[in-house]
Amino acid sequence: MTTSIIGFPRIGENRELKFNTEKYWHNEITEEQLQNFAKDLRLKHWQLIKNAGIDKIPSNDFSFFDTTLDTAYLLNIIPEAAKKLNLSQLDRYFALARGYQGTKGDIKALPMKKWFNTNYHYLVPQFSQDTDIKLTDTKIFDEYQEAKDAGIQTRPVIVGPFTLLSLSEFHDVKATDFVDQLVNAYQEIFAKLAQQGTEWIQLDEPELVKDVTGDKKALFENIYAKLLQNKSGLKVLLQTYFGDVRDVYNDLINLDVEGIGLDFHEGRKTAELVKSGFPDDKILFAGVVNGKNIWRNHYAETTALIKSLPAKKIVISTSCSLLHVPFTIENESFPTEIKQHFAFAKEKLTELDDIQAILSGNGQEAESQNKQLFEQPRVQPNQAVHDRVAKLTPDSFVRHPALAERAAIQKEEFNLPLLPTTTIGSFPQTKEVKKTRAQFRHNEISQEEYDKFIAGHIDEWLKWQEDIGLDVLVHGEFERNDMVEYFGQNLDGYLFSKNGWVQSYGTRGVKPPIIWGDVARNHPITVKWSKYAQSQTDKIVKGMLTGPVTILNWSFPREDISIKDSTIQIALAIQDEVLDLEKNGIKIIQIDEAALREKLPLRKTDWYSEYLDWAVPAFRLVHSKVKPTTQIHTHMCYSEFTDIIPAIQNLDADVISFEASRSNLEILDALQKEHFQLQVGPGVYDIHSPRIPSVEEIKTTIHKILAKVPEEKVWINPDCGLKTRGIKEAKASVANLTQAAQEVRKEL
Ligand code: GLN
Ligand code: ZN
Repeated sequence: MTTSIIGFPRIGENRELKFNTEKYWHNEITEEQLQNFAKDLRLKHWQLIKNAGIDKIPSNDFSFFDTTLDTAYLLNIIPEAAKKLNLSQLDRYFALARGYQGTKGDIKALPMKKWFNTNYHYLVPQFSQDTDIKLTDTKIFDEYQEAKDAGIQTRPVIVGPFTLLSLSEFHDVKATDFVDQLVNAYQEIFAKLAQQGTEWIQLDEPELVKDVTGDKKALFENIYAKLLQNKSGLKVLLQTYFGDVRDVYNDLINLDVEGIGLDFHEGRKTAELVKSGFPDDKILFAGVVNGKNIWRNHYAETTALIKSLPAKKIVISTSCSLLHVPFTIENESFPTEIKQHFAFAKEKLTELDDIQAILSGNGQEAESQNKQLFEQPRVQPNQAVHDRVAKLTPDSFVRHPALAERAAIQKEEFNLPLLPTTTIGSFPQTKEVKKTRAQFRHNEISQEEYDKFIAGHIDEWLKWQEDIGLDVLVHGEFERNDMVEYFGQNLDGYLFSKNGWVQSYGTRGVKPPIIWGDVARNHPITVKWSKYAQSQTDKIVKGMLTGPVTILNWSFPREDISIKDSTIQIALAIQDEVLDLEKNGIKIIQIDEAALREKLPLRKTDWYSEYLDWAVPAFRLVHSKVKPTTQIHTHMCYSEFTDIIPAIQNLDADVISFEASRSNLEILDALQKEHFQLQVGPGVYDIHSPRIPSVEEIKTTIHKILAKVPEEKVWINPDCGLKTRGIKEAKASVANLTQAAQEVRKEL
């Protein structure tokens, strides 16, 4: 038996890729310097993987921004406007990823969406009548060559054609129009790689774990029937992850591919499928080490599972790319009793090697250490939390009175103008803000100094919000490093890594906290600064919280209790916070559920029964006890909502804001069709790009919204928080937003 991985975190042990890329964006290093840095980083990672004893090593899993974009770029699936930009190959790539506004033109970034059920985001390729598929980039070939020149034989990885088509957007064309062109292009890739000496190629087809029936299945079959006719002698690994392939398993085992990669963690039926039969002539890449969570693998269970599989040839692998876990536990300072329970990306390499050793009879020491680890109880239960959960009744999840009645009461209470303006919560987290928080954390400045600094920022930004005429203000979240970590740090049951970064999009990372035990709140968290901000202005300042589902989804969850049980514990903790804010005079409270959709099962049939049926009530639990006059807002990021509108409605918040600008406001049609009842703020510009939207541009967007949503239900806001933006662009954009809203208001 040999070992392999699907992909490795490209950001580097200390997020070097991020820092260098950003330096390049800020003209602090040249393209050549960036390319040289990236080359060294790739080599370092290949060597590290090799030294850890992994037999089959991937390449082209590196990316400057996103591998789906890389694939589209390779295949010339690029909007005309971007092709016309007279930029270098690399700068045009970044223009697609981030938008470009400069002397050479002005284009918006490609839409960005969540990558399956993860917090990673991919850029959505756009197909139109102009799309002419051909190979126009060399990254995959160059990186293979780079590794080869360093003496490392790799398996290039690329997004497979079925998944690529399934994730793309089509404008006046359809996916089936492009099958032949796409198949030709992939075959050309095969041929070129074969010429370079490649043995294997990995086609990532996670789309296969969704419902694959009818036309979709026909599309898959059609693509692969054609594609596999000419492989130029390459061995093909068809790699799936994030679930099981129950709809296509029988097709897969009959395809002319040499390897099939399956996920044994999220794929609830994977073991059962494989046990129903696996062909002797194919290699099973068994995803048995969890690529999405940070707990140690249970060797006895894993080896028993592998032994129970009928496959003749098995490669021991991860359930998905290690992109979704942090780099290494080595530099963390947890005590050994805690640390021993964790395995990040680098440690997972060792786990694969251990499992291989155990299966070949050479891993006694690793085996017995692992056995001991799982024998001791890891944590003690918090009895108070369990008692409180036991007392919940169905009415604990219902807010009174109903939405429409509350809306009337709140209208009277707040007396806001039509098209009220607000922002999503955070303002730019400048170097100074981050530095001051770090100084406070390291006890380099006193509580007094720190408080003075935060209060100063709040004052300054409140004044600016008043000056430009925003209607509902925020305090700016300067005291928060991250919307989940901040809460975790103030809740019992959480642990934090120092350097456990995971890529979210481009150079952006998140550092998910770890749910270690039962969760409870033992002191107010946000009351101090919300109350302070409200005391400094006559306008309403929104309280700002993160919801339980998002806290759970952006944490590494426990594996010894269900995520549902953990979420209810978190919901009770946040409920305490909501009621404390209300008691302290906060009249509007925003409870962000940025990541509600993240753990939505990939198979539609499981959506409600396995997830929404408890996730939505968990949110309701948080705000069910507030007064009718207290207005509850919520906010969601990067989601497609069109298909879960009833569930969103069921959250029973009073107002929801969400990302829509970068998805062309397509959600508006759905809101209209489903008679959406909540007030809505579909973001009027994309904050993920540094470009500044003009007043006219925003007015056009507002009109588009008004064409679909009744004016008394519309709020005007950016599509997310502004913490990643620079001060200048944030201020200019929001000022334009306010002016646009005021001008449109006059027309009504
Ligand atoms: N209130 C948060 C902020 O503005 C929301 C962030 C998010 O939705 N990701 O930063
Ligand atoms: Zn957001």
